[in-house]
Amino acid sequence: MKKILLTFVFSFLAYFVNYATEKTFTSPNGRISVSVSDNDGKLTYSVKLDGKTFLNPSALGLKTNMGNFTENLEISNFETSKVQKRYRLKNIKQSIVDYSATIATISLKQDSKNVFDVIFSVSDRDVAFSYKLLPQKETRVCVIEEEISGFSLPKNTTTFLCPQSKPMGGFARTSPSYETPYSVDEATGKNGWGEGYTFPCLFKTPDGWVLISETGTDGGYVGCRLLNQNDSNYKIGFPQQGECNGIGSTSVSMSLPNSTPWRTITIDNTLKNIVETTVAFDLTEQKYFSSRDYTYGKGSWSWIIGMDQSCNFDEQKRYIDFSEAMGYQSVLVDAFWDKQIGYDKIAELSRYALSKGVGLFLWYNSNGTWNDAFQTPIDKMNTSANRRKEMKWLQENGIRGIKVDFFGGDKQQMMQLYEDILTDANDFGLLVIFHGCTLPRGWEKMYPNYAASEAVLASENLHFGQGACDNEAFNACLHPFLRNTVGSMDFGGSALNKFYNADNKHGSIRRTSDVFALSTAVLFQSAVQHFALAPNNLTDAPSWAIDFMKKVPTTWDEVKFIDGYPGKYVILARRSGDKWYIAGINADKQPLTKTISLEMFGANTEVQLYSDDNNLNGSLKTVKTNKLKQLSITIPCNGGIVITK
Ligand code: CA
Repeated sequence: MKKILLTFVFSFLAYFVNYATEKTFTSPNGRISVSVSDNDGKLTYSVKLDGKTFLNPSALGLKTNMGNFTENLEISNFETSKVQKRYRLKNIKQSIVDYSATIATISLKQDSKNVFDVIFSVSDRDVAFSYKLLPQKETRVCVIEEEISGFSLPKNTTTFLCPQSKPMGGFARTSPSYETPYSVDEATGKNGWGEGYTFPCLFKTPDGWVLISETGTDGGYVGCRLLNQNDSNYKIGFPQQGECNGIGSTSVSMSLPNSTPWRTITIDNTLKNIVETTVAFDLTEQKYFSSRDYTYGKGSWSWIIGMDQSCNFDEQKRYIDFSEAMGYQSVLVDAFWDKQIGYDKIAELSRYALSKGVGLFLWYNSNGTWNDAFQTPIDKMNTSANRRKEMKWLQENGIRGIKVDFFGGDKQQMMQLYEDILTDANDFGLLVIFHGCTLPRGWEKMYPNYAASEAVLASENLHFGQGACDNEAFNACLHPFLRNTVGSMDFGGSALNKFYNADNKHGSIRRTSDVFALSTAVLFQSAVQHFALAPNNLTDAPSWAIDFMKKVPTTWDEVKFIDGYPGKYVILARRSGDKWYIAGINADKQPLTKTISLEMFGANTEVQLYSDDNNLNGSLKTVKTNKLKQLSITIPCNGGIVITK
């Protein structure tokens, strides 16, 4: 009787109290575990590596105009499966990727209706999730007003973050364009300059590292940022109302059923997974067929040393000859070519370039109506009619690609513009570089003619001010752990001039060594690179440096993290074919002395070592690995090394 009564009482309670459901699933190797819970009707997830917490319970859910899907939620179904796939991409850090992951699909009910699924994809180095929204009766379109997706980091986490700038500020009111300085080793609890942070965001937890970013964003969503809520709690933020001169919504408009971009969390005890992750590409798919077999490669551009006045016929011809002498594939002709050279003379220049085996990239202003950038050509890329007319002319004149600058933020209409430019450019066989722009989010895979994006305080700042030159090594020691981990970075560096000026006698002074310049050509990954070299470097730079810059690849088959710390130093290895390049730089005041393992070269093997003495004088020497396949190296502050065989 007592037992029956108890059963009755428990059944009665179960009827009124929603017992929390918690589901746990792991990565293929079992080391990463994710737990999802609907306790109190609120959906959360947490992440552990080897049993250590990397994310505390963090919010999941969306606020939409068809319902508030952040509370009163119940896990109604849970399924897991395995995915194993191989893909090839020659324009990212690794040419062949084997991706294997556990997929968990968690279905959520609200008031007994299925409202959305959360899909987790958990590999041995990354956790990623995306929401799939479902139609509700006749409702087939919806507006997403907010994503509450959270990232609750453990206590005593420190941050390596790049603040999002306020809209309509900076040069010609072009911000935000992902060109703000990083703060490193900082406590949590700040919200940048009040507007959160640009992706990717790096955190050092008591047990390792966490890199948070997003991928798969196209015209179907907004570009997001990371907002601090309090302490070490962060959440996804949508764009700012003021972007695009205040025009357009910060919300997302989507048809149903449909999925959001992926939120990605890369975790590791060390920085290895952070440097080597391919998560931005593992979870995205190619969106259209390639109209041609795009080839990438190296090039030169006069603007970085010579600025606007160098954009004239004779100087561009000189740079074409220079690219030919270097064996480079392209010359990037920057702003004002339409005024200072003209369409007919550009056509002539293009014919000349093609006769030398060099293709031209031409610069464009993306405006439009989103900011005051006045550089021309303008109003050629903002509408489909103008764009396709221009692109037809580009194709007829053998132009290799375009560089489009000065975008207006991360609202959905702007993400659609990026996609439309890429899609149209593919119809005319053109590669596309973006500048003054947002972070690429898986675009190397989604858009086969995508080349690279700036979205970083790039080489132009070295020309603009001595402060950037003084901090060059510090910033360069961040990018392999941050900006460049998730996408191609168009930095436009590796200068061998002593001064950022055409006469090489005035202007801001380069503080870094020639070997440093060689090293960043390997460290900074982008399948298309326009280096800041100048024709005078053929005679005034060391021949070993010029010879190296002639041969250095821009596409890679593999990357291996060797050692480093964001903002202090970095050493990594990249492989192209069967040739390895080990590249290192040091920003610390003290010379960096290390014995590094070079498994790829074997024991007692002769290798080529480019290195600096204490006065940053570089040289090329032949040295031998020891019997343990090691080599001892020293890198002075602002110096570098490169090791090849
Ligand atoms: Ca820029």
